[in-house]
Amino acid sequence: MKKESIKVTPKEILDYWKERIYEGDLGVDISEGLEHCWRCGCKKVLHKCHIIPESLGGVTEASNLILLCGVCHGEAPNVNNKKTIFRWIQQTKKDTYNTFWILRWFDMYKILYGTSVEEELKRCKQTTKENLHLLISEAGNLDKNTGLHFSGHAVITNKITDSTGAVIIRRVLKKLQ
Ligand SMILES: [Zn+2]
Repeated sequence: MKKESIKVTPKEILDYWKERIYEGDLGVDISEGLEHCWRCGCKKVLHKCHIIPESLGGVTEASNLILLCGVCHGEAPNVNNKKTIFRWIQQTKKDTYNTFWILRWFDMYKILYGTSVEEELKRCKQTTKENLHLLISEAGNLDKNTGLHFSGHAVITNKITDSTGAVIIRRVLKKLQ
């Protein structure tokens, strides 16, 4: 049987929550919550996601829905406790807009190579700040060269795994050092 589509509109979901949650706990400014994912902050097609899944008795009403991109939807907790999803957003979001996914590459870099990207940047020719900008834009260029899909504003799409991203970062760092 085909699943019925959700009739609640994204605006109804946003209107419900903007009065009830502190926007500092989200990965997005609430005024942009119809276009940007509430967790990673990326401008993407948003899913209406159940807070408590239907399979666990969650209802399809604004009070049980939030707006997330497809990747974050896939990573969200599926548990019978409304607070968990907001805790997950609060604890995993990044404070800088649009850097969520590239910072995940940085985390994986540390796991794979045993040094942080910050440490690596100190060994580059220019200042850390300049290098960070270069790193992000160069990672984008390199990505185009490898033929993988790369979305706008230096944000990585779900097409690239964190481990692939870490390798891209490593290649760029070698060029900068
Ligand atoms: Zn997201």
